[in-house]
Amino acid sequence: MKIVIIGSGLAGLSAGYRLCKSNEVTVFEKDPDIGGMAASYCLEQSGKKYFIERYYHHIFRTDSELLALIRELGLEKQMLWLEAKDAYFVDGKNYPMNTPLEILHFSPLSILDLAKLGLLVFRIRLIKDTVPYDQIKAKDWILDTAGKSVYENFFAPLMKSKFGDNAENVSAAWLIGRVKIRSDRGKEGEKLGYMRGGFNSLLEALEGEITANGGEIRTNKEVTELVIKNNAVQGVVVDGEFIACDAVISTAEPAVLDAITGGKLELLHDSLKNIHYQGTACALIGLDRPLMEDGNYWMNIKADVPFGAVIEHTNYMPFEDYGEHLVYVTAYFQDEKSALWTQKEENVLDSYLQGLEKMFPGFSRTKVRWTKLYRRIDTAPVYEQGYLKNVLPFTAGPSGLYLAGMFSSTNYPERSLNGSVKAGFESAELLMKEKGN
Ligand SMILES: Cc1cc2nc3c(=O)[nH]c(=O)nc-3n(C[C@H](O)[C@H](O)[C@H](O)COP(=O)(O)OP(=O)(O)OC[C@H]3O[C@@H](n4cnc5c(N)ncnc54)[C@H](O)[C@@H]3O)c2cc1C
Repeated sequence: MKIVIIGSGLAGLSAGYRLCKSNEVTVFEKDPDIGGMAASYCLEQSGKKYFIERYYHHIFRTDSELLALIRELGLEKQMLWLEAKDAYFVDGKNYPMNTPLEILHFSPLSILDLAKLGLLVFRIRLIKDTVPYDQIKAKDWILDTAGKSVYENFFAPLMKSKFGDNAENVSAAWLIGRVKIRSDRGKEGEKLGYMRGGFNSLLEALEGEITANGGEIRTNKEVTELVIKNNAVQGVVVDGEFIACDAVISTAEPAVLDAITGGKLELLHDSLKNIHYQGTACALIGLDRPLMEDGNYWMNIKADVPFGAVIEHTNYMPFEDYGEHLVYVTAYFQDEKSALWTQKEENVLDSYLQGLEKMFPGFSRTKVRWTKLYRRIDTAPVYEQGYLKNVLPFTAGPSGLYLAGMFSSTNYPERSLNGSVKAGFESAELLMKEKGN
């Protein structure tokens, strides 16, 4: 069977990997590189090449489908589980947030508020089903359960940096999912997973499997039309050329799917229109010396700077793997009107460096070796109150059309590498079942 996959992110590559042994698979990717949100830069230091994700990535022990795939591809030896230190920078002061004792020293909250926060986290960890919380706004739920001070001094800045102006509309289901995963740590703090050599190894292994089985991955190829006739998929249009196929798996964001199908997916039309994606402007900075001398990996920020988090990759992975210190500085933005999207690249980078100078007195631009900025407008669905009804099914109505990606149920209430691997597999399995191969 001839199958076209739109998008070479983890959902598309996982689906391609499952299907390539018994089908003719072609993956079309509009970008020059494979990987979507998980794509990497290939950089060089002292004549040695290394890969590093354009957007910071790590995984959790609960990411079972992804870990099983890494094992299946023989990449298990690259997996590392390392301590990752967290901090919260609030109004000029840096608070370590790794152990219960450190959290007790978070002075923007009173002892009573800290107790309320602890109870809230405990309560969240007991919640098994997040569905009933989809209809409740996270803000209202926190105000009801932990009070105004806990909301304003702890959660609101975090939610603002993640969802900008949409922060107040985000559902309690998202918050609960997020807190559950981030609070699952022992007494010594959190251990996160990363592949030595980067997640690029996983992308390359999937690409290798697809091509070794006769499949093709074609980059710089945007699907501009998905042709549906008589309620069945006929093929796709790429570079003005019609390519016939028996089935399509689309991993493109809902607005793109709506556009390339010319609004023909009537049953899904409301969902396609109602899922809002937000963008991310993420700088990666190569430095001569560490930025966060106290060894923090992840720092959330409440301060007057144009970014919401600083992530020092080489405070987590060994510096020796790279030969330079690597720091991400990142912000989410809501739409194409945001300055983070409209400003020139050098201006965004300059504003980020100014922010770092303000926050870290020891930081100097003279220690910066290079900077890179990766901006995309389609990096995550905003999990607004009532989002669940918009989650897209794996089949889309017309025969031969399957959907998998950040909008799938496997990525609710938070998108992840694992959720996209799972979505890719589920769509491929459904396709094989329905098409009988
Ligand atoms: C800043 C950031 C940090 C993250 N950190 C983590 C993390 O630490 N851990 C974790 O598990 N997850 C993390 N994620 C999430 C993770 O990267 C994504 O959930 C996952 O990579 C999405 O894969 P996907 O295949 O579903 O979508 P995508 O990666 O978006 O792939 C879709 C692909 O389709 C292509 N495409 C779209 N339209 C067309 C078209 N018309 N024709 C051809 N191609 C098209 C796109 O270019 C893209 O490559 C992070 C994401 C971001 C943005």
